[in-house]
Amino acid sequence: MSAYEAVIGLEVHVHLATASKLFCSCPNSFGDEPNTNVCEVCSGMPGVLPVLNRKAVEYATRMALAIHAQINQRSQFARKNYFYPDMPKDYQISQFELPLCEHGWLDITVNGQKRRIGITRIHMEDDAGKNIHPQGENFSYVDLNRAGTPLIEIVSEPDLRSAEEAVAYLKKLHAMVVSLGISNGNMEEGCFRCDANVSIRPRGETKLGTRTELKNLNSFRNVQRAIEFEIARQSDLLDDGEKVIQETRLYDANRNLTAPMRSKEDAQDYRYFPDPDLLPVVITDEELAEWAATQPELPEARMARYMGELQLPEQDAEQLCSDPHLAELFEKTCALGAQPKKAANIMLGMLLREINQTGVSSADLKITPEAIAELVTIIGNGTISAKIAADIFPELMKGDVMPTALVKERGLVQVSDTGAIDAAVQKVIDAHPAEVEAYKGGKTKLVSFFVGQVMREMRGKANPAMVNEALARLLGQN
Ligand code: ADP
Ligand code: MG
Ligand code: ZN
Repeated sequence: MSAYEAVIGLEVHVHLATASKLFCSCPNSFGDEPNTNVCEVCSGMPGVLPVLNRKAVEYATRMALAIHAQINQRSQFARKNYFYPDMPKDYQISQFELPLCEHGWLDITVNGQKRRIGITRIHMEDDAGKNIHPQGENFSYVDLNRAGTPLIEIVSEPDLRSAEEAVAYLKKLHAMVVSLGISNGNMEEGCFRCDANVSIRPRGETKLGTRTELKNLNSFRNVQRAIEFEIARQSDLLDDGEKVIQETRLYDANRNLTAPMRSKEDAQDYRYFPDPDLLPVVITDEELAEWAATQPELPEARMARYMGELQLPEQDAEQLCSDPHLAELFEKTCALGAQPKKAANIMLGMLLREINQTGVSSADLKITPEAIAELVTIIGNGTISAKIAADIFPELMKGDVMPTALVKERGLVQVSDTGAIDAAVQKVIDAHPAEVEAYKGGKTKLVSFFVGQVMREMRGKANPAMVNEALARLLGQN
């Protein structure tokens, strides 16, 4: 065990999926022609006034409710002043002294150990635009489509103690925002971004060590690797009697290291002050009650339901509930009558494999619940083997085919005809006298060799149970 304990606090920015931006009516959409979703307000023209998007307040509050936070029904927008070319106002509209909510928490489980992670605050703010640096050119573009889109920032207490815990916490937050329907959570598009603050201290020490802030962590894997790298780097420094410098560091995924970016700014550098153009944000008791009463089911509750009502093992339930899109597909499949454990097996086996191999987002799946339910049925009644199911599965991912039709069209229906199977088994026995001899001499492991040969002979379509039975019977006779 290392002599040091790692201390990690995360700042997570979640892009809210409202129809329009936070303070103007421009569309809040991704991937459009640059600078087409821009008006006087979000391009920072002088003399214009922002008007708050109520839906963004609702979404932010739903997240506050989900983490059991203390909600400030009167909060305040503040200007965070700094210059950057992608932010023509020269200040970000954020919240400082009176954020939307404080003192929340969520529980994570890592290596069977449950821990409660404190959430300091959630505040609302607007996003900046985007600077684009074309390869090999000596100029940059500015795209303001993203300028003024709504974000919430979720700031954790420095309660996390390892890269694994940080990732578990992030995954949980991610599943929550997607389940709540307040964000699409797309990490590549920057809709779910995270900065990690990392320090170390000798075990047993209670004072916090000097931290660095890591940026550019655009996947769960990069969060894990960057934090691991940073803990090792800081440990080496202290081992050598050197000091950690408080700074912001950029993670380089290609080289898997962090490098200094700038010295860490303090709050006073931003000269925060209440935005005089915006009234305090007031959430009425009625609004709060209504939003609380209409909260969608959260991953934890869903997981408990899967384990109770649907009798799924904990691990299956957890895996399905960690991704709300998967969970919804699963529920629709079960609603069609599919046996839950069998449907879960297909989704966590074949479906996840396809997702991992093709990189398709679970939000964009085309495979239908009808197709999965039918697959469960035809595997169950012996029409096809699990092997054939796996073979046709990539085809089903396209969405417009049903398994029964596909299996018929391809002639893949499982052969359960004793005559045909016996004939194939006999043929294999006749062709491999040496192996038969060895088998009879006690090398019973050879049975899988024979099964393989018979399957090859019958192009994978033989009913495996019947092949085993026929092999036992015919090898016994010879
Ligand atoms: P900022 O980064 O904007 O200055 P804060 O000081 O509030 O804001 O800290 C931001 C994050 O850094 C929080 O998630 C907090 O838990 C974490 N943090 C603060 N001090 C440490 C530390 N010594 N080690 C690790 N994380 C820390
Ligand atoms: Mg910070
Ligand atoms: Zn606008």
